[in-house]
Amino acid sequence: MGVKIVKREGKTLKERSYIFALFTGLRVTLRHFLKNLKDTSNIKTISYPEELPKDITPRYRGVHRLTKRDDGSVRCVACFMCATACPADCIFIVAQEREDGVDEKMPKKFSIDLLECIFCGACVEACPCDAIRMDTGIFTFIAQKREDFVIHKDALLKNKAMKGSK
Ligand code: SF4
Ligand code: SF4
Repeated sequence: MGVKIVKREGKTLKERSYIFALFTGLRVTLRHFLKNLKDTSNIKTISYPEELPKDITPRYRGVHRLTKRDDGSVRCVACFMCATACPADCIFIVAQEREDGVDEKMPKKFSIDLLECIFCGACVEACPCDAIRMDTGIFTFIAQKREDFVIHKDALLKNKAMKGSK
């Protein structure tokens, strides 16, 4: 079997000490530091969480919401398509019969475990009724206990679409 011998670079003392490479790196860092010290408008970072990002696009996949029909009723028909498509298996639905005559079923319970969710959007894609969306723009979800990261039907229905989303 042919073995290809690769020439090893960095044989001289200058190359092996890394001193010059280190100073080259520091020079670049110092140049940016001084430039940003004079003009802060080029700095791309923000002081999160005191300052929140303003450039979240409407396509950003944030915390979910359940949508409503024009008459204010729940759009979801408890078909379980989203739960079936979910790769993280973190959507829990209990269906009940619908009495308003709009459809056959609706969710009695609808929960999403946000600690297990990988925010892939498969549930949104799978829904045949446009009943679940991730256009809230909510990118942080803080809680003290694990169970508080499970978001339930009422909260999902209260979540609103972010400004600019369709
Ligand atoms: S975003 Fe993905 S992981 Fe999260 S609930 Fe929807 S399908 Fe499941
Ligand atoms: S959100 Fe959509 S896919 Fe999920 S159960 Fe309701 S109607 Fe079906």
